[in-house]
Amino acid sequence: MSGTTLDDYTDRYARRMRGMTVSEVRALFAMASRAEIVSLAGGSPFVSALPLDEIAEMTAALIRDRGAEALQYGTGQGDVRLRELVCDVMAVEGVIGSAEDVVITVGSQQGLDLIAHLFLDPGDVVLAEGPSYVGALGTFAAAEAEVVHVPMDAEGLIPSELDVTLRRLTAEGRTVKFLYTVPNFQNPTGVTLTEPRRDAIVELAERYDLLIIEDNPYGLLGFEEGPGQALRARSSDRVIYLGSCSKMFGAGLRTGWVLAPPAVREKLVLVNESQVLSPAMLTQMIASEYLGKYPWREQLKVFREIYRERRDTMLDALSTMMPSGVTWTHPRGGFFVWATVGDDLDTKAMQPRALAHKVAYVPGIGFYADGAGRQNMRLCFSSASPDRIREGIRRLASVIEEETEL
Ligand code: PMP
Repeated sequence: MSGTTLDDYTDRYARRMRGMTVSEVRALFAMASRAEIVSLAGGSPFVSALPLDEIAEMTAALIRDRGAEALQYGTGQGDVRLRELVCDVMAVEGVIGSAEDVVITVGSQQGLDLIAHLFLDPGDVVLAEGPSYVGALGTFAAAEAEVVHVPMDAEGLIPSELDVTLRRLTAEGRTVKFLYTVPNFQNPTGVTLTEPRRDAIVELAERYDLLIIEDNPYGLLGFEEGPGQALRARSSDRVIYLGSCSKMFGAGLRTGWVLAPPAVREKLVLVNESQVLSPAMLTQMIASEYLGKYPWREQLKVFREIYRERRDTMLDALSTMMPSGVTWTHPRGGFFVWATVGDDLDTKAMQPRALAHKVAYVPGIGFYADGAGRQNMRLCFSSASPDRIREGIRRLASVIEEETEL
């Protein structure tokens, strides 16, 4: 044993544990959940808008009528009815997938872990937008892969930058296992990849023989226009698509899915079996009842309306209250705004002052694998009420003003 006072077991842990550290975000959430703090940090969906009584009845009937199935083990691939129903969900974004090629996961977070388990060896390169989803970065780090960020702007990942990065890495002899991307209302920036760029990225994938992991939990939460065409709708053999019930239904169900080419899907099922035997039958069946019998498209309209109002409130508050020098994205859907402060400020260093002013955000560095993001912060508008959002931005504006005066 190492004899350190912190952890006597250090020498016994597997090497991969070195890539696993306490997430900044998780530590912050514990703090930010105090009632007096306006939290713009957590990215929780507003599940109170769901028809809870109806879901309670649906669930009770399920257990009463089909309890022996709901409380039994299922298969490693997931329940076939749910696999069929999620194909209808994906069809909204032009994805033609077959239930046979879907694997149900414990949220798309586990889908990411299955993919990391299947594809990543230590030292492999994963490409991802800079910035990128913190949970994916954590999973890739745990697999001891190296994340190389590809710059993005207000139109999403920049294809010419992807081209340059792929050329450089190929010349260096590095193994690029895949590009991980969140094309719609990205976490953390709220930015959506434009249609021409989607075409360009799929073309580059063809040219460089690159696999794409398309993570799409927010695609149906657009406020301005209908959903775009998924990358998977453009290529069925280069794109592995991850979907989730978390934002269109309930995050607590921990139910998501992966649509993959048949050979990959077979392997994903093996990994799923070794990780969980089968995803929970009960929650899969609740999700199936919801997607099969409840007007979920109408419920999506309810969610979109709530989030749109909150987005508008946040953007309005930012433009009326923020000091000059602060800029931010204008998301057309999803949960997040990404703000940039002046060069002389550091959002991580500013955090204690923000908590003292009773407002929380997530500092930008959590969304980069390479230490970038010190001038950024993620502001979430999905979970706080419009009044709280306005108050949170007011507090944040005074934090930034004070910090600038130092
Ligand atoms: N991918 C992205 C981009 C996310 O924002 C999230 C949730 N924050 C996830 C995956 C994980 O979602 P799930 O609840 O389906 O595991």
